[in-house]
Amino acid sequence: MPKCIYCLEDKNALLFNTEHVIPESFGRFQQNLTLINKVCTKCNQKFGDDIDLELGRNTFEGISRYKHGIKKANKFKNRGKKSNLTMKIAEGPLKNLVVELIPDQTRLKLVILPQIGLRKGDGTYDFFEFKEIPEFQHLSEKYPNSERLILIPPGVNINEATKSLNKKGFKFQYQGEFITSTNDILCEIDGQIDKKIRRAFAKIAFNFFAYFNDEEILFHPTFNEIRDFILNGNVGIPIKIDNKSILADEKSAKSIRAGHIVAISKIHGKCIFAQLSLFNTFRYTILLAKNVNFNKNIQAGFGRFFDVQNMKIHEISSTELIFPSVNLIIPKVKIWIPR
Ligand SMILES: [Zn+2]
Repeated sequence: MPKCIYCLEDKNALLFNTEHVIPESFGRFQQNLTLINKVCTKCNQKFGDDIDLELGRNTFEGISRYKHGIKKANKFKNRGKKSNLTMKIAEGPLKNLVVELIPDQTRLKLVILPQIGLRKGDGTYDFFEFKEIPEFQHLSEKYPNSERLILIPPGVNINEATKSLNKKGFKFQYQGEFITSTNDILCEIDGQIDKKIRRAFAKIAFNFFAYFNDEEILFHPTFNEIRDFILNGNVGIPIKIDNKSILADEKSAKSIRAGHIVAISKIHGKCIFAQLSLFNTFRYTILLAKNVNFNKNIQAGFGRFFDVQNMKIHEISSTELIFPSVNLIIPKVKIWIPR
């Protein structure tokens, strides 16, 4: 009877289904990496309803799916207040204005949420949602009298904005239109990478490890912590997040490839790490096991590149490489390991 690599239960093969190393919502690749009879239906379902869903909906990588055409724009659902991502305009007079994404036939489009801007002494604006507009009489010196100008961003209903301003004691008179360029606007996304999201990344890493290693290694108790973290989030697992490259040649050449990268490394013969990036954006370095003290042939020191342009998977190895002079950078990470 097969045993599930997450809950460690032995079950009839009928109670297992196919687990994709990288969730299918992040691309259906040719000769995709799947785990057969390794993840039970119950665990698979639990992941699908929880951490995988979170990974798609609440991350920068999730939004990147629309940009790369992995998901169609008309499938995009705005999560509003439920989302833990905030998107703001990052340049120009509308800097710091909160925006949201909505589907627009073939692409995602920015919409401006109802807000007004109060001009500060330095000429920039602070933006407020209607119900958060401060009382006029309590305005701080941050917004000096002489330059107390109000900006109603394009697309915001002027009548409603005026009403909200009047309620707070502002005597507001519409002065004219504000002209913005029609070019693309640089935005910044603020978000929290919470435990669920870290667990979702850890699952991809451990799935990948499980694809290449045999059962004797996979069921070793040294991997129980990572299993428990992914399944229940009970324990803490060191995960480092940065925006460094995983592929060595991208360090200098900056030829950023479009796709997912997963790689496994063994350090000092004792720790097993995975490096993972979806859409080659942020790098997650995940400790899969520490103090590996058994003498088995662990498959590590290689990776795969999931090309989202042609949906093919390429091999990355430290000696034999798909891209000339590409080497895996062995992560140098400082981790705190509890005794
Ligand atoms: Zn299971």
